[in-house]
Amino acid sequence: MPNYRAPVQDMQFVITELAGLERLAALPGYEEVTPDLVEAVLEEAAKLAGDVLAPLNQPGDEQGAALTKDGVVAADGFAAAYRRFVENGWNGLGGDPEYGGQGLPGLTAAAAVEMWNSANMSFALCPLLTAGAMEAIKAHGSHELKSRFLPKLVSGEWAGTMNLTEPQAGSDLSAVRTRAVPEGDHYRIFGQKIFITWGDHDMAENIVHLVLARLPDAPEGTRGISLFLVPKFLVGPDGSPAERNDVLCASIERKFGIHASPTCVMSFGEKEGAVGYLVGRENEGLPHMFTMMNEARQKVGLQGLGIAERAYQAARDYAKDRVQGRPVGQRSGDRVTIIHHPDVRRMLLTMKSQIEAMRAFGYVLAADVDLAHKHPDPAERHRHQKRVDLLTPVLKGWCTELGVEIASLGVQVHGGMGYIDETGAAQYLRDARIAPIYEGTTGIQAGDLVGRKLSTDNGSAMTELIEEMRAVEDRLGGSDNADSPAIRESLAGGIRALEQATEWVLQTIRRDPNAALAASVSYMMLTGYVCGGWQMARAALAARARLGSGADDGFWRTKIATARFYAEQILPKASALLPIVRSGASTTFALDEEQF
Ligand SMILES: Cc1cc2nc3c(=O)[nH]c(=O)nc-3n(C[C@H](O)[C@H](O)[C@H](O)COP(=O)(O)OP(=O)(O)OC[C@H]3O[C@@H](n4cnc5c(N)ncnc54)[C@H](O)[C@@H]3O)c2cc1C
Repeated sequence: MPNYRAPVQDMQFVITELAGLERLAALPGYEEVTPDLVEAVLEEAAKLAGDVLAPLNQPGDEQGAALTKDGVVAADGFAAAYRRFVENGWNGLGGDPEYGGQGLPGLTAAAAVEMWNSANMSFALCPLLTAGAMEAIKAHGSHELKSRFLPKLVSGEWAGTMNLTEPQAGSDLSAVRTRAVPEGDHYRIFGQKIFITWGDHDMAENIVHLVLARLPDAPEGTRGISLFLVPKFLVGPDGSPAERNDVLCASIERKFGIHASPTCVMSFGEKEGAVGYLVGRENEGLPHMFTMMNEARQKVGLQGLGIAERAYQAARDYAKDRVQGRPVGQRSGDRVTIIHHPDVRRMLLTMKSQIEAMRAFGYVLAADVDLAHKHPDPAERHRHQKRVDLLTPVLKGWCTELGVEIASLGVQVHGGMGYIDETGAAQYLRDARIAPIYEGTTGIQAGDLVGRKLSTDNGSAMTELIEEMRAVEDRLGGSDNADSPAIRESLAGGIRALEQATEWVLQTIRRDPNAALAASVSYMMLTGYVCGGWQMARAALAARARLGSGADDGFWRTKIATARFYAEQILPKASALLPIVRSGASTTFALDEEQF
């Protein structure tokens, strides 16, 4: 069975040197966050991920979750693992201390999220959704809702879900039909939701559903949607779960991957109506839900990273073990392991270099989230929030698309064995495939980037980002590292492409929105590759500085070589995407509907 060992050294490097842990430690509430503390947390998380969660991944895939007369039962071992996860405080790692959380920066939590997802993506989805529910309640819930529900959600004793999708309302939530009828201090909810992740299970003693529904006289469309909290068990006066609410899982889907994560059809109000409490204001449910969705989108981006890392580890171990063929140009002598073949090297480095770029990009953005929440200077908070708003769709879209590509390469490295269940490589690909779909498909992320994030401020957040990238390009010019010219040249090309593509999008979006949206996924991928190149260049500079100050660790040399591979073999994809972006809709709309 394939093992998972968390890449703690790289995580620690990214956290301290690229994401700037020191800056975070200067923020109010984070005074005690030192590199030693972070290392200790990562080491412990790595043990849980490697020793407890990872061994359940393959059996969980084979067995799946099951719907019984008593509700959904998780695959064997999951409930016990979840108990351990909760008892050891992992659910509340980044949670607010006011509600019992440990209050560590989201940056540290990001590394833990990567580990849970590498180890067992199905399992990781449960705390991922709970975290999103916590954020939405904290941001928009009444004092009463917060004090009643947050402590148990933060501890993980209760789990959270997100109930948006209905058969006719997927990407387009304006079509939501679930109804909410006022009744005293609460509402009665009636309707059906589909595809609800961990919508029911036996791992937590209560489940807190966040549900989008319409009030009787609500306006049509997205302006008429409100957000409700619907617990599986109503909460008694002593705060513990009491009477069963009128909500149940009607069925669970058979599906391509994440078999151990139940995807539920949820039925609200088959009898008297499910008791629900309004979160925030009436008819403002969608913006409130976006608090949850943005948090979840960042985490799903990290999920792409996590599953890619797991696929890479399996491929690397297999490539060092599988003997096939002889070194290039030799017809006799010992046969070698496949890692000696140039094309296998290419695949492994394509996986490794993009994973490291995604990790750096994702964690740096997690630090921006912390700074946007906690920086004492409002101007700085605003600046970091703009960065987060701009890059969240890129993190979600780019990292999940790469997650699929990397998991697919993982299958390829295994050859025929990759297609056979035993190695696990096929499961990683199946599991990875959902990440570009849920929490807003790649097309939706790209549309958000181009249609809202870029255009609402006329590209000013992107201009600031490009300026920061240029400063790294300049620093590479002053570096005596033999690899710097190649990395610099490639980064400069990527930045030029990003600048020109941005200019094109901004000019086009108002004049011809179809053209801009037809180009949006290419633009989003281009942005992702350049963001990755920017971070890998920073990583190479940091590694060079370490070597210059006498550190002699293979890690630093490996980092520089990996950054150079990214610069030469991956980042040029950004420049290749530029003409694709610019050609916009000219060919995309060349066919009439009947011609398809
Ligand atoms: C395993 C699984 C778990 C899920 N978990 C949850 C959950 O916990 N909670 C929840 O509420 N939902 C959940 N979902 C639902 C998920 O979020 C939706 O499936 C997703 O948002 C896409 O909606 P859809 O399936 O209706 O596809 P559609 O919206 O029908 O999209 C089909 C295609 O059209 C494209 N498209 C649609 N509209 C546009 C547009 N405006 N611009 C560009 N392209 C567009 C899409 O990109 C896609 O390629 C889950 C789904 C699955 C499969």
